[in-house]
Amino acid sequence: MNFIETRGNDGQFPKEVTFSQAILSPMSSFGGLYSPKSLPQLGLDFLKAHLNSNYKTLAKAILAEFEVDIDQAVIDQALALYDQFDDPTNPVPVVKVRDDLFVSELYHGPTRAFKDMALQPFGTVLSAVAQKRNEKFLILAATSGDTGPAALDTFRNKPNVQVVCMYPDGGTSDVQRLQMVTETGENLKVIGIKGDFDDAQTALKSLLVSTSFRDTLKQQGVQVSAANSVNFGRIIFQTIYHVHSYLELVRLQEIGLGDQVYLDVPSGNFGNALGGYYAYKMGLPVAKILIASNQNNVLTQFIEEGKYDLRDSGVIATTSPAMDILKSSNIERILFDLFGAERTKELMLALDKDKFYQLTSDELGMVQTIFAADFCTNQEGQDYIKQAYEDGYLMDPHTATCLKVYDTKRDQKLKTIAYSTAEWTKFSPVIAKTLFGGELTSDIDALKRIADKGQIPIPAQISRLFDLPATQAKVIDKQNIETEILSFFK
Ligand SMILES: *Cc1c(COP(=O)(O)O)cnc(C)c1O
Repeated sequence: MNFIETRGNDGQFPKEVTFSQAILSPMSSFGGLYSPKSLPQLGLDFLKAHLNSNYKTLAKAILAEFEVDIDQAVIDQALALYDQFDDPTNPVPVVKVRDDLFVSELYHGPTRAFKDMALQPFGTVLSAVAQKRNEKFLILAATSGDTGPAALDTFRNKPNVQVVCMYPDGGTSDVQRLQMVTETGENLKVIGIKGDFDDAQTALKSLLVSTSFRDTLKQQGVQVSAANSVNFGRIIFQTIYHVHSYLELVRLQEIGLGDQVYLDVPSGNFGNALGGYYAYKMGLPVAKILIASNQNNVLTQFIEEGKYDLRDSGVIATTSPAMDILKSSNIERILFDLFGAERTKELMLALDKDKFYQLTSDELGMVQTIFAADFCTNQEGQDYIKQAYEDGYLMDPHTATCLKVYDTKRDQKLKTIAYSTAEWTKFSPVIAKTLFGGELTSDIDALKRIADKGQIPIPAQISRLFDLPATQAKVIDKQNIETEILSFFK
């Protein structure tokens, strides 16, 4: 399957690229993204045939439908990384928490957040493609806290790849920061930035299109690429667990094959929800995708009113920081899929220039046939965490945002799959305060408190962090990013 550009072609970039080209060079004409030219159709027969498939078998079959230009041996090697999840036979457990609410837990990988679902296999695929072409890549990653650790983990000591990971200093949890600054892989560099996540993401985007930056690295035989959620190499792995979660509900006899469900997705850059959208387009029986946000509610406004408005909003720091995002990059692929390249270009250029666009009412209608949205305040999120805990389920603040849209936006009595994107261990201070009172404490104290009171172990991947030296703790000003990165190559 080939990929085409969301903002059309400018005559400079190739009109169409393969999967491996799209993952190596994710930026396209006019600052657009690559999107699949067409999607495979899975259909009920496919679902039926995979009713008893384990996760890896299902993943392999879905990837085969996409017809990507990656050797089967590489795909097998990439999918084998799910074997290091907590339960190799079931890397994504789906847990019933209410009669009609199921939580699909995407956080059982090495860095305890859902980014591992895509980045674990992606690292292997990208390094293999680079080796095969005998090329070297610098992978840039901007993180609000979970992408960074997952990108570093997946590329550690991988051939032909170096990684620079930028995070907003003070914008991540202690655990997330430690996961990055204690990193010792020779091919990995971590940079803290004075600013917020949008600053880090904007810096990354401008480096990706900067010819001087590229040329300097080219002289060293290095090309530049990105591991952010705009990279289709991540999105493709994020379609799989939506299909898996649906099949789990069939296996649990909670639904019949073909019955519709709601997908309920805590969203920021919209990669997770986009994976759900593609699964729906490929034939997964989905009534609606419910988009959960925190107080940075641009996505709610977009889906409810057709308005994308960044004019006087700044990012609000919330208790679900991985969703503290205003420029939600993957919305562009939804625009492209629904309205085509010409209109997408028009809307995205308006957003760049005027920080605003408004869909027509027909366009909004198309968005609303598949999406509904609501946002959850910090206080509401804490109430949901508390209520769920009392009912026997411990959830993190990102997962908690799903409960709001579950309460407000279902118009049919259908089973709902909510996605849990992080383990409690990554955001423990607010959880400890919510459940057991007292003041906010450090991560380590909160972890111990929850572990103690809740009789739940702290996984080794987290507890070990507190004993490691912080070897990559440098924090710099935004304007020094380029120089700092280039120094990594001296
Ligand atoms: C990345 C992340 C999200 C947002 O996912 P998107 O694909 O960017 O919408 C939500 N929760 C957690 C914990 C995350 O790490």
